[in-house]
Amino acid sequence: MEEPVKDRLATTDEFGDRVYIYVAEVKGFFRKHRNWTQAILILFFLIMPWIKINGEQGILLSLPERKFSFFGLVFYAHDGPLIFFILAISAIGLALVTAIWGRVWCGWACPQTVFIDGVFRRIEYWIEGHHIQRRQLDEAPFSSQKFFKKLFKWILFFIIATIIAHSFIAYFVGAENLVKMISHTPSENWVDFLIVSGISLILLFDFGWFREQFCFIVCPYGRFQSVLLDNNSMNVMYDEKRGEPRKGSLKKIKPLELGIPNQTLNQNSEQEKEGDCVNCKRCIMVCPTGIDIRRGLQMECIHCTACIDACDEIMEKVKKPKGLIRYSSTAEMQGEKRIIWNFRTILYSFLILGAFSILTYKITTREDLHWVMLREKTTPYRILDGQESGFIINQFKAHIRNQTHSEMKIHFHLKDDAVLNQSAKLIQQATEIILKPGESQTHLLFIKFNKEMTKGTGQNPIPVEADYELDGKQFKHEQTAKLLGPLS
Ligand code: SF4
Ligand code: SF4
Repeated sequence: MEEPVKDRLATTDEFGDRVYIYVAEVKGFFRKHRNWTQAILILFFLIMPWIKINGEQGILLSLPERKFSFFGLVFYAHDGPLIFFILAISAIGLALVTAIWGRVWCGWACPQTVFIDGVFRRIEYWIEGHHIQRRQLDEAPFSSQKFFKKLFKWILFFIIATIIAHSFIAYFVGAENLVKMISHTPSENWVDFLIVSGISLILLFDFGWFREQFCFIVCPYGRFQSVLLDNNSMNVMYDEKRGEPRKGSLKKIKPLELGIPNQTLNQNSEQEKEGDCVNCKRCIMVCPTGIDIRRGLQMECIHCTACIDACDEIMEKVKKPKGLIRYSSTAEMQGEKRIIWNFRTILYSFLILGAFSILTYKITTREDLHWVMLREKTTPYRILDGQESGFIINQFKAHIRNQTHSEMKIHFHLKDDAVLNQSAKLIQQATEIILKPGESQTHLLFIKFNKEMTKGTGQNPIPVEADYELDGKQFKHEQTAKLLGPLS
């Protein structure tokens, strides 16, 4: 195997064209644990849209309904600040995890890695064989065997990409709507059909062929790692002190060429004894991004740990201690103590704790009934005449949403004394409104009042109340409606 070049990506040639990687299989401690992790994550991804918690889909980001449900909690468009806190916790959490455990997300939990490594590459191994056989198959001239192997592989890839695309879509349209969509013909649902087909083809292209190029070219997270990592972050690292000089790297120099006494040379030779790296390049063969970890921390490394398992296997064979490549930090590799809790990690932790506390407070004190009163903009007020002369009418729109998991009965009325002396009256379309869980409705409310109420200033705020019944209990919610009339 040739040495990867130093001044360009291992996956591009000197003209910048793609060099396809034939990744070798590996067994070992991390491989076994990654298999389990990938299986659990894939299962989670597939079943989550079908699980209901408090009557809501486990995870749903419904754009048409402007609703986000997350493990039984439901957020709506007006809950933007709460969603902001969830996103902030996720982003700072990722920064904290990276600062402590490096790119553990990339190697263990990123969907790109999980699906390529856990599904697509396995199918490839199964149909086309190990890395050498796959390379030979690609380089071989066209034959019926090559054609059928490739066809079979891409049909399986397509089926799996389609399943993933449907499951992905279920997170946005809801599992029930997905079932409705797929039970109709494409011509009845052609927009949905085109969207799902487009996502399937993008996934097929990415997981089937583009692969590690996505991490290098598209994903911004790899670029951020240089600012998120420090000397105390855990990384997949090669122990240079132990491994170097690697086997075959020492020049054999004859004493006469140096012109130094034999005794001195022997001492130097002792100091320059070969390190533990046997230069087998097995760590490069198993690397899904084609890099040589012995060159130090690189942007392309997704910390998949394949090179750790590969090198441990070799160390076992050559009867040397495992861990020449291992999870470690730059500080530990330099013989220093690793400090996990430094200013940055403590700051991240406080920010997460702060955001989490605010989020918890906001969720626990959230109103059951979300109610917004908006004035009809085109006509601020209307002066009545005839029998109703001396009265003014204001029109409002009440946007209401039931933010609970139970049905709600609502009745609006005016709270003010004005009602008692009959100077103001609330007129509404329905005296009792029924809202299903999560449902939103808009109702017109008219307030008819004596013009004396706004005399002088032209305005008068009065309280409007919504009595609502929830699970057999009565509650109240109050809003202020600003009555408007002429200034004089
Ligand atoms: S697998 Fe280990 S021994 Fe082999 S080249 Fe890589 S670091 Fe050296
Ligand atoms: S260098 Fe090792 S950990 Fe990094 S991507 Fe390659 S195999 Fe995975």
